[in-house]
Amino acid sequence: MKILSYCYLYIRKGCTTNLPFYRLIPAFSKREGVLGVKFVVHPFANAQHSMKLSDRINNITEPQTIGMARKARELKAKGVDVISLSLGEPDFFTPDVVKMAAKNAIDNNFSFYTHVSGYLELRQAIAKKFKRDNNLDFTAEQIVVSTGAKQSIANVLLCIVNPGDEVLVPAPYWVTYLEQIKLAGGKPVVIQATVENNFKVTAEQIKKAITPKTKAILFSSPCNPTGSVYTKEELKAIADVIVPNPDMYVISDEIYEHINFLGKHESIAQFPEIKERTVVVNGASKAFAMTGWRVGYIGAPKELAIACDKLQGQFTSATCGIGQKAMHAAAEMEPATIHPMRDAFKKRRDIVYKLLKEIPDIKTNYPDGAFYFFPEISAYFGKGSVKNSTDLCMYLLDKAHVALVPGDAFGNDNHIRISYAAAEDKLIEAMKRIKNALAELK
Ligand code: PMP
Repeated sequence: MKILSYCYLYIRKGCTTNLPFYRLIPAFSKREGVLGVKFVVHPFANAQHSMKLSDRINNITEPQTIGMARKARELKAKGVDVISLSLGEPDFFTPDVVKMAAKNAIDNNFSFYTHVSGYLELRQAIAKKFKRDNNLDFTAEQIVVSTGAKQSIANVLLCIVNPGDEVLVPAPYWVTYLEQIKLAGGKPVVIQATVENNFKVTAEQIKKAITPKTKAILFSSPCNPTGSVYTKEELKAIADVIVPNPDMYVISDEIYEHINFLGKHESIAQFPEIKERTVVVNGASKAFAMTGWRVGYIGAPKELAIACDKLQGQFTSATCGIGQKAMHAAAEMEPATIHPMRDAFKKRRDIVYKLLKEIPDIKTNYPDGAFYFFPEISAYFGKGSVKNSTDLCMYLLDKAHVALVPGDAFGNDNHIRISYAAAEDKLIEAMKRIKNALAELK
């Protein structure tokens, strides 16, 4: 029978009870009236069983750093003595002067919406901080304060990247970069550096990777996950290859600025020839042990700062006002006041370096900043059931009860990331456990 279906009328009662995904429908024809009934799959029939999420979200992954930390917490909850070296946060407390500023803000009812980019005096204080610490000139209009540096980077990428644009990312890179570039519709172009060259890409490598579609380069120095720090000369060489590409931005993530064991932080924005298209990303999380406060900021070309303000205005608006007051106090702190934390990290770096060197078949650099090691561990692949960095991290979590992050997440599967933002005794114990567990891996 030929069924002409000009309109469908769903029979909702009786005939659908045992067949939830099907509907009996009468098929109508203008000329012939009802011709019969047939089963059709309801277009939304499966909605309650398999949610159709966007390609945008399906194309990105959960940060493995957060995934490993969750697994470690689950084991801890079962009573296992897990040492977690997986998360990137200082194990220090927020400075008292910062806490006091936040308490005062609450008591003084600083509880209203602020300017989307952060209240004016805060942005002025951050502009002063840029001048004081980096000798960089930014006006308050060029500063946008966000809910963490993570949001700052997302804002910038969403404001500059068009679908198909390429963004250069030196690897190893911070986990979030690639996923945010993809979210913005861009194409990450990874440039590999290796442990042999202290995980730093050369200007020559960058030059080779630039195409007419290149929109930006995004990197951190001091670097998460390698602890590498680019020298002034290396940054100048990179700036020089960017100069002939006037449509290209530099997104310089300097969140580890104050955890730098070389003595002086160098920003790529110091070179006037690229300053006008350089965005400096920074924040409170690492330098002031304020990861949970969620405050980050950028110093950017004015037009881009206005765009980020517009975007943020439609997403989150300004970050929490109390957090802004806390950031204000932090921005006004003399860098010397946080040197004790930096020095503690430096001491731990040396402890872990010595212990890492005692483990056979591991290659490491000697990091100059941040609080991570990113050793090469591929010599252990093929032993036991370990085939890659994820297997090795799972093995070490199960066997040694030490949580680490697979290098895969940072763009190099031959490595693992060890965060040394933990007390010295914990680090010594963790390194002992790792060494023993690796020795047993045959
Ligand atoms: N950049 C890098 C390199 C980081 O390691 C982190 C935090 N792990 C961030 C940005 C984000 O910092 P925030 O807490 O301010 O979002």
